[in-house]
Amino acid sequence: MSETLTIALSKGRIFKETVPLLAQAGITPLDDPETSRKLILDTNLEHVKLVIIRATDVPTYVQYGAADIGVAGKDVLMEHGGEGLYEPLDLNIACCRLMVAGPVNAVPVKGRLRVATKYVNSARHYYARQGKQVEVIKLYGSMELAPLVGLADCIVDVVDTGNTLKANNLEPQEHIADISSRLVVNKASMKMKHAMVKDFIAQMERAVANKQ
Ligand code: AMP
Repeated sequence: MSETLTIALSKGRIFKETVPLLAQAGITPLDDPETSRKLILDTNLEHVKLVIIRATDVPTYVQYGAADIGVAGKDVLMEHGGEGLYEPLDLNIACCRLMVAGPVNAVPVKGRLRVATKYVNSARHYYARQGKQVEVIKLYGSMELAPLVGLADCIVDVVDTGNTLKANNLEPQEHIADISSRLVVNKASMKMKHAMVKDFIAQMERAVANKQ
């Protein structure tokens, strides 16, 4: 087969949880991104390549067709906006919740709430839907620190076990969205490589169903 299928993945939780699904679709990476410095991984199938990129870059690579398919967290997709992408399948992996969290027993804030987050768009939409005027402060990491040092009143972040919040005397306050990783597909690839892409989606669908 001359046509190639390029799949964008991020290292860590998403890669680890996607590999067993790929295996059921007959795809095995020939390298481990945790130990290899390669950014393009070959697989057992000559026409299937994996590109290993930052989680937040996955929608962009797929949108522009640098990858045909990607695996991205719904949190990342909500932030990106999903332009140029199909989202045909919930992989039901890397599950967590997007939440507002703040100091334990925080007193209600008078005036405009200061919200620290890397999820600027999701936070703005969430508060706008409630008709609340807030100040959103963009951070790139360690959001939990912001309320502890007076940078913000609360944070918007993904929460899994809640252990990170607890370790920093924070608690979940409001649930914004349930998050899991999704398969995303470039719109042109869906047309131009229809048979291959459809077949891959169907196999991943079966792999997800087998796990339930
Ligand atoms: P937790 O289990 O709540 O202590 O989560 C630990 C940290 O991992 C949190 O600060 C989150 O930012 C991050 N995290 C948890 N689950 C996910 C996920 N599914 N995707 C991305 N980041 C996550």
